[in-house]
Amino acid sequence: MVSKDNARIQQQAFPTLPIEELRNTYPQRVIAPGDSEYEQARTTFYGGIDKRPAVIIRVANTDEVAHVITFARDTGLELAVRSGGHSVVGHCVSDGGIVLDLSQMRDLQIDVDSRFAWAEPGLTAGEFTHAVGVHGLATGFGDTGSVGIGGITLGGGVGYLVRKFGLTIDDLLAAEMVTADGQLLYVDEKSHPDLFWALRGGGGNFGVVTRFKFRLHEVDSAVGGMLFLPATAETIASFMELAEAAPEELSAIANVMTAPPMPFIPKEAHGKPIIMAIMMYAGDTAEGEKVIAPFRALAAPLADMLKPMKYYEIYQPEQEGYHPVAASRTMFMDYVDRDVAALILDHIKASNANMAVTQLRVLGGAMARVPADATAFAHRDSKIMVNVAALYDKPEQKETHEAWVAKLAEALQQSDVGAYVNFLGNEGEERIRAAYPNGTWERLAAIKAKYDPTNLFRLNQNIPPATK
Ligand SMILES: Cc1cc2nc3c(=O)[nH]c(=O)nc-3n(C[C@H](O)[C@H](O)[C@H](O)COP(=O)(O)OP(=O)(O)OC[C@H]3O[C@@H](n4cnc5c(N)ncnc54)[C@H](O)[C@@H]3O)c2cc1C
Repeated sequence: MVSKDNARIQQQAFPTLPIEELRNTYPQRVIAPGDSEYEQARTTFYGGIDKRPAVIIRVANTDEVAHVITFARDTGLELAVRSGGHSVVGHCVSDGGIVLDLSQMRDLQIDVDSRFAWAEPGLTAGEFTHAVGVHGLATGFGDTGSVGIGGITLGGGVGYLVRKFGLTIDDLLAAEMVTADGQLLYVDEKSHPDLFWALRGGGGNFGVVTRFKFRLHEVDSAVGGMLFLPATAETIASFMELAEAAPEELSAIANVMTAPPMPFIPKEAHGKPIIMAIMMYAGDTAEGEKVIAPFRALAAPLADMLKPMKYYEIYQPEQEGYHPVAASRTMFMDYVDRDVAALILDHIKASNANMAVTQLRVLGGAMARVPADATAFAHRDSKIMVNVAALYDKPEQKETHEAWVAKLAEALQQSDVGAYVNFLGNEGEERIRAAYPNGTWERLAAIKAKYDPTNLFRLNQNIPPATK
């Protein structure tokens, strides 16, 4: 029920929207300013994003998705599409517009024998991975379980299986989606192949995906978890060397940062530079222990939480209500030797952020065997994915931390000038183009012109429709 006061607030704020009519169409699933759920429903994973949508509609099925798309088109209001709410820049919420919230579309059909699954976008990476994992199967997503499968898949998907099986999109077999004209399309290699190519890396530019069909791999036992090592130029460079030389079963993420005051890290290490490594060997556990041994031997570990596990256990429960504010920059690098590692350490020590971190992920393997023009994600030859970030809580320090991030990113820049779209901030068209090099941008713009000529889906890392 909406109180009279709330109805008045809504009417004053957005006089053109037929909120009551919408409430009848989507019972209990329309949230507007003044509703008790509004604050929670407009919150995103990242803090510091304070957008106030005119209405949030939690759709339940494809027909409703089509209806909301048509409604948004008719009103002319900005449309935001939300799956897991982890957009780095809050693209899943509109300020003054409509949020099409897919979080309640959570169906999952697993075909164990044929090794594929149809999944709705309201599922998170962790939920999907657990559900298929009990069958000894997996599709690779990212490093965090609460990320939605919607956003991560459409941008590419770099995670714990990237070297063994490739990106998430390399396991995308088909999708169902609603385009700007409200049509439901089945999209795969044969049906709308241009759109299928664009979906695999082009983000939310082309329509709303209502179901993904993923290939499942046999992935059961694993060795994984976190390893905390003291960070010196030598340990960082050697870690990267080992990770590059390791078998493809191993994916390693090295977070170079200062040690937070966590109870399992010895007190004397708090505030000192560490490598917080997140590692996953997806395969035989005895073999995994052998592969991981040289990493453990790089220095006396400050904490060693690597252990045999089921693959899906890598996604552990996360802290509720955690909404960090971050300045960050995504980039790729060719190598991290001792000089580069020393440079990272100097910058990390100079930052006064709550957490200053340079995240290094070794790529290659299966991801690199896919031709660069096979999907809209084109960075197949990139060697290391890097994320420079500063987490802070005082808004007045925004500029300081952004400047720190920009300075370190500039110092680290090597020959690979690409960017990963899923980690891009509000950085302008030039950087979006960096995500889509070598003709990818032009090809995407042409497909955009065909399927979304009025740029209805523009609240994203936007690819404007090509003009003839
Ligand atoms: C803590 C954290 C860890 C991360 N780790 C990784 C990682 O390891 N690897 C990696 O590759 N990425 C990672 N990311 C980036 C992540 O992939 C993107 O932020 C992604 O967009 C989040 O997806 P979502 O569905 O949760 O987000 P949302 O905010 O709901 O969606 C983001 C955007 O994607 C589009 N979109 C989402 N769903 C749909 C849909 N069904 N149809 C059409 N468009 C849609 C929309 O444009 C939307 O604005 C991480 C992000 C965070 C915050």
